[in-house]
Formats: sequence, structure tokens, C-alpha cells
Amino acid sequence: MTRRPERVTGLLEGAGIDVMLVTAHTNVRYLTGYTGSNGLALLGARTRAFITDFRYVEQAATEVHPSFARRQVQGGVDLLEAVGDALPAGPLRLGFEAAHVSVAEHARLRELLAARIELVGVEHLVECLRAVKEPDEIEHIRAATALADEAFERLIGGGVAGLTEREVASALELDMRARGAERSSFETIVAAGAHAALPHARPREHPIGRGELVVIDWGAELDGYCSDCTRTVATGDPGLRAEEVYELVLGAQLVGVRAVRDGANGREVDALARAAIDGGGYGARFGHGLGHGVGLEVHEGPRLSQRSEDDLRAGNVVTVEPGVYVPGAFGVRIEDLVLVTEDGCEILTSVPKHLMRID
Ligand code: ZN
Ligand code: ZN
Repeated sequence: MTRRPERVTGLLEGAGIDVMLVTAHTNVRYLTGYTGSNGLALLGARTRAFITDFRYVEQAATEVHPSFARRQVQGGVDLLEAVGDALPAGPLRLGFEAAHVSVAEHARLRELLAARIELVGVEHLVECLRAVKEPDEIEHIRAATALADEAFERLIGGGVAGLTEREVASALELDMRARGAERSSFETIVAAGAHAALPHARPREHPIGRGELVVIDWGAELDGYCSDCTRTVATGDPGLRAEEVYELVLGAQLVGVRAVRDGANGREVDALARAAIDGGGYGARFGHGLGHGVGLEVHEGPRLSQRSEDDLRAGNVVTVEPGVYVPGAFGVRIEDLVLVTEDGCEILTSVPKHLMRID
């Protein structure tokens, strides 16, 4: 973690700025170690400051890397008010995170900072660093994945037919917590039968029947790092068409996983898996991207999608998750979390991918 601030300052010249103001919570955490709320960081060749308010001073003293000079404002005072004082004297170009600073905050900065400071919107600077995981980050993601996998194995061992979607989601979430997860990394999806044709279905108070496909998308957060996985299971015999679509999606998922490697382009990997689903006649029923990066956030870079401009790099952790959604009938999605390596990828998810029939 200690080298992350240097990596940011190494990028500043190329971005045409002198000091970077980091306000996005996850980026602040990544760079400083601070896990609380209401904190911001300033990084430049001669500047390394962290600002929080009175409520978080103790927490900041324990968590924030000692290379940052810590400053505080009184509770209720806007942190942005302390930015000017933390900056070096003389004219400078101050980068801000354009994707995270609101129009109101931008106006406030404009008002607070003297004319010597020029504000420059910057995108993806810290996010680009975050996309390539360090060894300890990979270990955290590996542990979160293993924990989530164990909870799932236990869940399906007990069967899901007759339980409501919400009961299944709660059981999975409780078990992950019991195994040490801080929380679910996102709201668990459990969707049976025709409800699974909604890719982001919310669990209902509706019992899961027999002979249905059930899409379960879940993840654990452990030490701040997320996991993300989807399996589609059958309660008894789901019917021939559902089985055929399952095999189609599985085939596309395997094609996608095989295409992931250092240097592969996110759009090309998506296209290969998409072509497999197209070939089966269901291209129009796969309406989302193939995958996304996972780390401190469950959705981050790089993207695998039709519009992605990202090239994969060794150390990226991404999902590969094709799906087919047939309105009024069923849905299938199969998602693994994989670590991009020089010559391919390592699948972090351990749950089997064949169509599991559970009652
Ligand atoms: Zn997922
Ligand atoms: Zn996902």
C-alpha cells in the first residue's frame, strides 16, 4: 500500500496537474488506508495531506498512512474549506475527480480557492491503479470468494424448493456473515422461474417451485474486498429448452474465460462470448456486458462489454458472466470471478458449473 501515493504522483505530470484532490471514498481508502467516511486526500510532488472532521480524528490517526499530514476541520464544517490551506503556495493546477465531484462541490471549490488555483477535471486516475491488484489484494479477493463459495455449497446442500426467494437470499447472507464476511458485497439476487428473466431481479416473498431454474447472484465483502458469483440451479427437471439454454450459456462462459489474458481487449472478449450465444439464436436475449472488474468495489474496471476500450492486464480481477433471459419463461446466468494472468486466467470461483439439480 505504501507505494500507491507515489504511483499517483507519477501520473500527475501526464495528466497536466500539480496536485490531485481525491474525494471518492474508495479511492481515499485505497491511497491512505482510511476506512471511515468524510475524508479526502491531496497528493502532489511536495504535498501529501489527509483531511477529515473532528468525529474521525482518532480513526484517522490509527488508519491513515503516516506519510500523509493529517488535518481536521470542526464537525459540520465542509472538508473542502481546508483544501486551500493544505496546498503549496504559488499558482497550481489542482486535479479533481470529475466522476465523483458534484456540480455544487465544484462551485464550492471554485469559490473557496483563490484565483491562483486552476481546477482540472481528471477521470479514472486512481481507478486505473486499482484495476491492477497487488498480491495482498488478490489474497483478500480469494478469501472473500472462498467464503462466499462455502456459504453457497451449504445452501444448496439443503435445497431451495419451497423456500421463498427472500428466505434463500437471507440464509445465504446470514451464513456469509457467520463465516466472517463484513457484509454482502451487493444485494443478493435470488430469482426463480420467469422472474429470473429480469437480470437484476429482487428476491420476492414467493416460494420457489419444482422444475424451475433459479438464478442466484451473491458475493461477500471481506477486509473491504468483494467477491461476485452467479450460479443457475434447477429444482428438479426444468425442461428441455431451459437445459439447452443452460448449455449454451455455459459454452459462452467457457469461451469468455478462455479469451481472458493479459493484453486481450475487453470488447473482443465480450464479442467472442456473445458470438457463441448469437450462434444459438439467443443473441438478443443477452442484453448486458460480459463482465466487470471487482475489488474494493463490486463493479469497477476493467469492463468486458461491447463498448469497452479497456485492455486486460495481468493482475486484473474480472467477472465473466454471460446470461440469457427469456421473458415469461426463465433466465440463465453463469458468473465466475477470474484473475487475469500473463497467459490466461485463474478461475477464483470454486463452485461447479454444470447444471446442478437440487430440491
Ligand atoms: Zn454477480
Ligand atoms: Zn457481476
